[in-house]
Amino acid sequence: MKVDFKVTGKTAVITGAGGIICGEMAKEMAAKGMQVALLDLFEDKAQAVADEINEKGGTAIACATDVLKRESLEAAKKFVLDHFESIDVLINGAGGNKKGATTSCEQDFFHIAIEDLRWVFDLNVMGAVLTTQVFGEVFAEKKAGNVINIASMASMIPLTNTIAYSGAKAAVANFTQWMAVHFNQNYGQEIRVNAIAPGFLLTQQNQFLMQKEDGAPTERGQKVLDKTPMGRYGDPIEMAGPVIWLCSEAASFVNGAVIPIDGGFSAYWGV
Ligand code: NAD
Repeated sequence: MKVDFKVTGKTAVITGAGGIICGEMAKEMAAKGMQVALLDLFEDKAQAVADEINEKGGTAIACATDVLKRESLEAAKKFVLDHFESIDVLINGAGGNKKGATTSCEQDFFHIAIEDLRWVFDLNVMGAVLTTQVFGEVFAEKKAGNVINIASMASMIPLTNTIAYSGAKAAVANFTQWMAVHFNQNYGQEIRVNAIAPGFLLTQQNQFLMQKEDGAPTERGQKVLDKTPMGRYGDPIEMAGPVIWLCSEAASFVNGAVIPIDGGFSAYWGV
């Protein structure tokens, strides 16, 4: 058996592909010879990433998809299989948080709207489950496949303020382990399910928590930097390498794992 990092010719479906992390990931995967199907609620965002990939000689298609609607996912699956022979990898990238589901000096725990909490759980958990139901059938039929979820540091220990996001990402990590076992026990042992747990990146999603308007770190931002042994935020592109490794046969025995990519954040108590 040889260690094989090659991913050329593999096809990946990526949800949330118009976003910062998955957009960068898709570009890097395409540059390594993978065919990528970019699914996002906003077609223009996914199309912009696809255009950039195709202009550079890669192979990408874009499709407007709502990960919370089964009929939308079924239509996306048909669209992908009309373009590509099969699917090898599913990346459940659609996810996020919202201010309304976060405690702050303006909003205490007792008045958070249940709709806001539900929005975060739905997007991060139900979105990944429903997408895996729809695309995972392809893997069950061919008894091979590779699912990669996006967990978070909040999956391991809840982060202050982000009540729903922490709970939802803990559920994503749990779902990753559950799904890995379920696929193997029922649909063959060539299916792997893993998650990456990104550390702190500075993105649109969390900027209001991390940075003041003048760019200086908020108290929370400073705490994150102090607790990250590498002393900086991650760059979205730094999520791509471990994901490409998971897509390859070099990770053939990695299954049910939640892999931190966090500059050491989860290894350090802060003392
Ligand atoms: P982002 O907001 O840039 O991207 C998310 C994408 O998902 C957007 O393009 C959005 O249009 C899409 N989306 C939203 N709702 C959707 C739906 N119903 N159906 C389909 N697509 C939908 O966020 P990001 O920072 O790139 O995050 C990507 C993933 O990584 C998320 O799961 C996020 O929770 C996770 N994550 C991010 C960080 C971080 O610091 N940015 C850290 C840990 C984990």
